[in-house]
Amino acid sequence: MTGHVSLVGAGPGDPGLLTRTAIARLRRADLVLYDALVDERILKYARTAQRFFVGKRAGRHAMAQPSIHALMIRAARRGKRVVRLKGGDPFVFGRGGEEALALRRAGIPFDVVPGVTSAVAAAAAAGIPVTHRGIASAFLVVSGHDRDGFASTIGALQPNGITLVVLMGLARAGDIASALIDRGWARRTPAAVVLDAWTAEQRQWIGPLERLASDGVGVNGSAAGTIVIGQVVGMAAVIGSMAGSPETLLGSTERLALRTERDAFGRAGVQQHVSRR
Ligand code: SAH
Repeated sequence: MTGHVSLVGAGPGDPGLLTRTAIARLRRADLVLYDALVDERILKYARTAQRFFVGKRAGRHAMAQPSIHALMIRAARRGKRVVRLKGGDPFVFGRGGEEALALRRAGIPFDVVPGVTSAVAAAAAAGIPVTHRGIASAFLVVSGHDRDGFASTIGALQPNGITLVVLMGLARAGDIASALIDRGWARRTPAAVVLDAWTAEQRQWIGPLERLASDGVGVNGSAAGTIVIGQVVGMAAVIGSMAGSPETLLGSTERLALRTERDAFGRAGVQQHVSRR
């Protein structure tokens, strides 16, 4: 008997942002292979499953992609129901496409369960709508990790025209800001960095593009961060304090603490700390 593999999006962190289908797959799973950006609280739904961490952890390499494919295929051939659980959406920079192709080639039945991508949800956590009538009619999600890919993507854009959402860009934030300014983006374009959105560790920085790297946001080695650049970021000042987890809005015991302070350079930078316990 052949089992089944589900490529499941875990969303950005908060279990409230899981889909019902994702929860159903986790409950029935025999084996869960999960990545570094998957929140512990989400794994709890997989009560009866064996759980394997296959992501990258401080200093240690992730399991090689072909080994992950082999593991999923072997387990499915033994009749197991496998969940391959990925942060956000499995097809947004998650190598979900490669895994789907490998399963297809091996003749393993599989399905894909979309998740809430951090490209939109991290911005929302800071009160930033990625599009807004009259301000931005498009948003572009780009990887900041690959220098050449980033350069050719922004090279094809009209400066200041749309919202840019940069994933995997923290380590290159300074280069990203300079590349945009060189291309003609205004130095004062509002920018945001949202760290560990929808988790208890969420922090954010908002300021002008030219300060994107120099202000810093207290990034520690393991934080996941999304950079948002464009006029819509200015809306965080109005919408930001209302943004919270669905659980918060339902009135649980979670606490939302908001701190606003001037940044080290005396500009109206906004630093907010949201804690949920
Ligand atoms: N498939 C994922 C993205 C994987 S790439 C998705 O759809 O969300 C990993 C990048 O996603 C990180 O480098 C970071 O830029 C972003 N990211 C993931 N989780 C995040 C979170 N909770 N808060 C902010 N950014 C996050």
